[in-house]
Amino acid sequence: MLDKFQAVVIGGGPGGYVCAIRLAQLGLKTACIESRGSLGGTCLNVGCIPSKSLLNLSEEFHKVQNLSNKGIEIGEVKLNLSKMMKSKDKAVTILTKGVEFLLKKNKVTYFKGTGSFKSKNEISIKDSQNKETLIKTDNVIIATGSDPVSLPGIEFDEKIIVSSTGALKLEKVPKKNACSWWRIYRSRDGISLVKTWCRSSCS
Ligand SMILES: Cc1cc2nc3c(=O)[nH]c(=O)nc-3n(C[C@H](O)[C@H](O)[C@H](O)COP(=O)(O)OP(=O)(O)OC[C@H]3O[C@@H](n4cnc5c(N)ncnc54)[C@H](O)[C@@H]3O)c2cc1C
Repeated sequence: MLDKFQAVVIGGGPGGYVCAIRLAQLGLKTACIESRGSLGGTCLNVGCIPSKSLLNLSEEFHKVQNLSNKGIEIGEVKLNLSKMMKSKDKAVTILTKGVEFLLKKNKVTYFKGTGSFKSKNEISIKDSQNKETLIKTDNVIIATGSDPVSLPGIEFDEKIIVSSTGALKLEKVPKKNACSWWRIYRSRDGISLVKTWCRSSCS
């Protein structure tokens, strides 16, 4: 017998997980399906949270570097990028686990895998091993968010031409090119990434 739900939310980002929690609080037997392997969507995994973590750390670095101009001498200031990335990853893990806890606390069933329609009331969930689980539902909410899209002819290689996700995982601070990103990242989200790397590279 297939598991039967009153509502299934496909996508565990801020749109999806909040909706699933609210539905469960209103008394519906609810499931949430997320393919990424961790909850919180773009925002918690590769968006708002990691970008603001790096932005804050780069601000601290920039401030400390410029303290001597104001009469505070603290010797050589070095940026340890791998530690900075670890600190960002730690913030992401704590928050994504926090969302998992919230789903559990509100009795939302969490499925790890990619959701797709088998029929109007039947959802297939394929996990990373391609193992399929079928569930039945009365209602479906699609909250699958968005992914970065490259411009024709300048596809992401995640080294020189990076998506927002790649920009959060750079292994080295770009020396000269950081500011030229400005042209592509003219959004609010892009500006925080550009600022992070400009402050870290100081060129
Ligand atoms: C670098 C960056 C910085 C940002 N900073 C901010 C900020 O400071 N403030 C702000 O308000 N917003 C910010 N945003 C935007 C914010 O992240 C998004 O608006 C928000 O995440 C959208 O939420 P969502 O739930 O609609 O989609 P998403 O967060 O994209 O979540 C959708 C989820 O659905 C999953 N999914 C997709 N298809 C399937 C499927 N078939 N089966 C199962 N799961 C599936 C995806 O894996 C994903 O986890 C930023 C974005 C980026 C990229």
